Amino acid sequence: MTGGASPSRVVPAALPGMTPVPSRHRHLPPESHLPQLQQALLAWFAAHQRPLPWRVSYSPYEVWISEVMLQQTQMERGVSYFTRWMKRFPDVATLAAASEEEVLRLWEGLGYYSRARHVLAAARQIMDRHGGVFPAALEDIRALPGVGPYTAGAIASIAFGEKLPCVDANVERVVARVFDLDTPVRQEPAASAVRAWALRLVPEGKAREHNQAMMELGALVCGKKPRCAVCPLAAFCISLHLGIVDQRPVPGKRAPITPIEVVTGVLRRKDKIFVQKRLPSGVWGNLWEFPGGRVEPGESPDAAVVREFEEETGFAATVDSKYGIIRHGYTTYKITLHCFALSLADGDPEDTPAPPTLTAASAWRWATPRELEALAMPAAHRKLADQIFAAARRLPGA
Ligand code: SF4
Repeated sequence: MTGGASPSRVVPAALPGMTPVPSRHRHLPPESHLPQLQQALLAWFAAHQRPLPWRVSYSPYEVWISEVMLQQTQMERGVSYFTRWMKRFPDVATLAAASEEEVLRLWEGLGYYSRARHVLAAARQIMDRHGGVFPAALEDIRALPGVGPYTAGAIASIAFGEKLPCVDANVERVVARVFDLDTPVRQEPAASAVRAWALRLVPEGKAREHNQAMMELGALVCGKKPRCAVCPLAAFCISLHLGIVDQRPVPGKRAPITPIEVVTGVLRRKDKIFVQKRLPSGVWGNLWEFPGGRVEPGESPDAAVVREFEEETGFAATVDSKYGIIRHGYTTYKITLHCFALSLADGDPEDTPAPPTLTAASAWRWATPRELEALAMPAAHRKLADQIFAAARRLPGA
């Protein structure tokens, strides 16, 4: 990290495209002008914050759910999931009484399904250990399943007003720019510097507003393309005054993206489709899917789907046709999913097949389109199910 503006640095009054900073404000070093910086930020937040549903009552339950949902999710999408969720689970008790199946179904599309399972487990813990009242003590919040330092800080500060920082990607970016952190923000020493500044910046008694203001500023003004001309922190921002905003935050090393080829098979019998429930562990634990797996080196997708289907269910199948390819990107890997229509290799298609022998799942069923609607599935499999039924609906007489 570098310190404040050194006397040797040339501080421009304005950069191309920005409103000139009034000379009386010409670079106020943020370290020595914290109260002014805090005030400017709070005033901006009061005037420009978005009206979000959890900003009405600030109940701990709503703050918690919104924070968990918004990790890795766009705001608009998060709001629509949040609204739907609150209609069905308006409080901790309703959530705690729900089935995992239903919770996963309402979470479907947000990804990171372990979060949904943790949210359910935490709701049950709140019922068992805290009489259904969301705990206010930081150590009790941290003890809830799936609640890490970020979420605990967010709940404790936004719902209960505790003087704690919330450091998300928006806050990292704002701090790195305002304080000119010159090493990658997710690595030391900058990571500690970000946390230290984020805490030092919180004004007494204003943790709720301040932490949200920092995140909101990062989302609305100090984004990837910062709008310094309208920024309430322009007078304090070292990177702006040094003309190096485009170099902050310093990017860290990106993990390489691994391409993965997988196959899946849709076995139909009359109006029903075979689906299985994944084992509880893993990214898509307990979600329903069409059986399948990875294509081995040198193997064709057609051969892979027949092999995988038999390995996972014991059903010998043949490929009827290919539905197509679904591509899906994750943080560190990119999936190409080859989707096939299958038939049983032996026997009359009208007969009821023998039960499967599951090796990669905990349950199975032959589901109608309507039943499939109620099951939680990974995004790519839901997309495939929707495609199949949309195509079926377009057939004459369907
Ligand atoms: S002045 Fe620009 S770079 Fe600095 S905090 Fe504001 S938007 Fe971000």
